[in-house]
Amino acid sequence: MSELLLNSQHGHLSASQRIPAIARPFVSERAAKTLDLVEKFVEEECLPHDEVYIRQIGETTQQRFSSHPSVIEDLKKKAKELGLWNMFLPKAHFKEGAGFSNLEYGLMAEYLGKSRTASEATNCAAPDTGNMEVLAKYGNDAQKKRWLEPLLAGRIRSGFLMTEPQVASSDATNIEMTIKRDGDSYVLNGSKWWSSGIGDPRCEIYIVLGKTDPNNSDKYKQQSVILVPHNTPGITIHRMLSVFGYDDAPHGHGHVTFTNVRVPASNMVLGEGDGFKIIQGRLGPGRIHHAMRSIGAAEKALEWFLARINDERKKPFGEMLNKHGIMLDRVARSRIEIDAARLAVLNAAITIDESDAKGALKEIAEVKVLVPQVNLDVIDRAIQAYGGAGVSQETPLAAMYSNGRTMRIVDGPDEVHLLQLGKNENKRGPAHKKRLEAQKRKGEELCRKYGIEPKDPLYLGRSTGEGKSKL
Ligand SMILES: Cc1cc2nc3c(=O)[nH]c(=O)nc-3n(C[C@H](O)[C@H](O)[C@H](O)COP(=O)(O)OP(=O)(O)OC[C@H]3O[C@@H](n4cnc5c(N)ncnc54)[C@H](O)[C@@H]3O)c2cc1C
Repeated sequence: MSELLLNSQHGHLSASQRIPAIARPFVSERAAKTLDLVEKFVEEECLPHDEVYIRQIGETTQQRFSSHPSVIEDLKKKAKELGLWNMFLPKAHFKEGAGFSNLEYGLMAEYLGKSRTASEATNCAAPDTGNMEVLAKYGNDAQKKRWLEPLLAGRIRSGFLMTEPQVASSDATNIEMTIKRDGDSYVLNGSKWWSSGIGDPRCEIYIVLGKTDPNNSDKYKQQSVILVPHNTPGITIHRMLSVFGYDDAPHGHGHVTFTNVRVPASNMVLGEGDGFKIIQGRLGPGRIHHAMRSIGAAEKALEWFLARINDERKKPFGEMLNKHGIMLDRVARSRIEIDAARLAVLNAAITIDESDAKGALKEIAEVKVLVPQVNLDVIDRAIQAYGGAGVSQETPLAAMYSNGRTMRIVDGPDEVHLLQLGKNENKRGPAHKKRLEAQKRKGEELCRKYGIEPKDPLYLGRSTGEGKSKL
């Protein structure tokens, strides 16, 4: 067995052997085998190639945003040969994918999340995954032929353009980009930023959210989604945004303006006014993918943490870090939190499989909030164990922290999910109040039956005067 797969004191425990018991009945034999292949591919191929990828991107901004690391194409070829391709498209809704459920893909995505290259190598990288789902679910035949086919084949990449610099975009009803019908065309004007992926020279298609009917009294019918080829005249990429100084090249996050950008009317996805529905449909499963990849990142951080506290060369105050109790406490907390978070994600995936993303709103929101925080806490502990090296380029931890931090903002900030969850949870409030009152009345009746005078400690002294002097 290759040293590249060592993961326990017993050697290697395969990914399928480590599927949590609660999820095992939902995983087919084929998916379990594929999961093991994914693990092997990530650990033996992708992780060692990550360094090559980073070096091939280059140094200068010009190089970084015009490069296409050849190592990615080599990895894509290997992944295809192994049958590790497009695993993200759930079998219940799409014939174009590899035929796995959300749960099965979720287990695989955890491994993809450990590596810089694995998601793209298997054609399971965001934002393409969500964009392919939009095209597969809502695109017409011509749109699928022109854009979905090359995306599924990994020949091109795509961007999803919703967020705008001048408005609070976590509320999509605020979006201001205009999409106006003009004969056989639509004309787009406005500004977008955080347009991930548009730095990549292979990014050929933008899926753009704008307003076709800004005065519609139903604010959820004002928006539409339209397909815009990257080379359409009037599009200007002004700059690439960085995340804590990381440019995420060659992929990048662009700040773009559209000035009288004209596309054929046939580029409209579904119909005018369907934009909100489309973006809602896009975000559900994507959040699970992010969450599972974040679990993988947290596992990787814990592995780096364990490696550091078992490094014989580093002995602060005469002892290796694994002899310092506080470190073992942090390892234990990380283990507990990752395992608990994973169960929450798998539960969300099973719930989606059994209904759809709409039927799993609560579970999706739970993991959208929980997992990034767990990931950040675990990475933070690992960083601390490495001291100065932890915040430097010497380990992947600093970059992982930067990426992990964005997960509390992308696809809707924590607060939006918490508010929604809190509101829905609170709907149960009146029922609980009634139930507790009924239980109390019954308790009082029972007290009387047993010859005991009932008391309500909250109202002591109010009705009877009793207790007043005791307070
Ligand atoms: C790395 C990265 C990649 C991204 N990729 C893409 C992409 O590919 N395409 C795209 O369109 N967008 C992308 N985004 C943008 C992202 O989706 C938005 O940043 C996010 O939706 C928040 O919108 P906003 O930045 O306009 O913040 P705002 O909407 O202005 O919100 C700012 C803050 O207000 C608070 N807030 C918001 N709502 C509430 C509430 N209801 N209650 C209390 N507080 C609240 C939160 O603290 C929130 O962080 C990306 C962002 C990052 C960082």
